Amino acid sequence: MDPLTHSFLGMATALVVARRDTPKGQVALAGLAAGLLPDTDVFLRNAADPLFFIEYHRHFTHSLAFSPVIAALAAGIAWLIYRVIARRSISLIPLLIPAWLAGLSHIFCDLWTSYGTRVWWPFSDARVSLDWVAVVDPLLTLPLLVLTVQALTTPSVKKYAAVGLVWVSLYLGLAIIQQHRAIAAVQQWLAQSGNASGSPVQITVKPSIANTIVWRALVRDPDGVRVLAVRTGLGAVEILTPSPTHYPAFTNPAAAAAAFGLQPDSAQAKDIGRFFHFSDDWVGVHPQHPEVLGDLRYASLPDDIRPLWGIRLQPGHPEARVEWQQFTEMEPGAVKRLWGMIWK
Ligand SMILES: [Zn+2]
Repeated sequence: MDPLTHSFLGMATALVVARRDTPKGQVALAGLAAGLLPDTDVFLRNAADPLFFIEYHRHFTHSLAFSPVIAALAAGIAWLIYRVIARRSISLIPLLIPAWLAGLSHIFCDLWTSYGTRVWWPFSDARVSLDWVAVVDPLLTLPLLVLTVQALTTPSVKKYAAVGLVWVSLYLGLAIIQQHRAIAAVQQWLAQSGNASGSPVQITVKPSIANTIVWRALVRDPDGVRVLAVRTGLGAVEILTPSPTHYPAFTNPAAAAAAFGLQPDSAQAKDIGRFFHFSDDWVGVHPQHPEVLGDLRYASLPDDIRPLWGIRLQPGHPEARVEWQQFTEMEPGAVKRLWGMIWK
């Protein structure tokens, strides 16, 4: 999730579990460092490899196996800052458990989004995503922020920090219920209208930007991928796009490489395989850029097929590396349209 959520969740977690006799400033600093350190992986780059940075974000720094290292580093940073700036000698040991749990809060926080987190590294290369909450969600973050600030500025440290964690837990519970309502609605829609042939279908449902009311559903069958916006309001769940069209998509990297005339052992075919793993196999051709394979999990609107990012191929140069592409420009009125879907 965003750095703000990681910061305050890390601090609140550390403050709740720390011993009462450990000064809260030291605990909060260790929690803040542990909450932010895993995302320093965004600085890992390799100029010769266009997919290196997407593979190594949420990689080993976000694994359970690496979490003790994050804890030691975070406690060490808090120790060093107090030593150098405040010229105070503090004990490292009481900070280790709060920093470790704050670091775990970062991993859990990323798991509940859709991006994919390599939590089981080095034992598995699976990119785990629970699809509960969007990468940015102000309704989750702002109350946590206010309560953590209260914990830091009043004597009721543990009370406010604990209420902050309870708020996050309740919000996640609500998000899980909403996700299940959306999945059930898509399955019902599919049973009624979308899969008359009985062909195999794969479904995934993800939150749209910054809310848990409108969801993005991807439905894949042998004819391609369909995208549905699903509204889970107070009343009955509603499919906002009841007649979506099929878009071309690929079920595996070999099929995608073959469609572009690439040999399986070419550099670009290997990059396609890596992009499929990153995208959890939800890959299709960008409708406006026929040489771009897009990550269909993300779009600016929940019923839009146009991806936010993808890889540009050069089929005439199979040994050239793919080019990473971002499509962050939103169409005019997109925010207003999403707002209209939420408050429909
Ligand atoms: Zn992260």
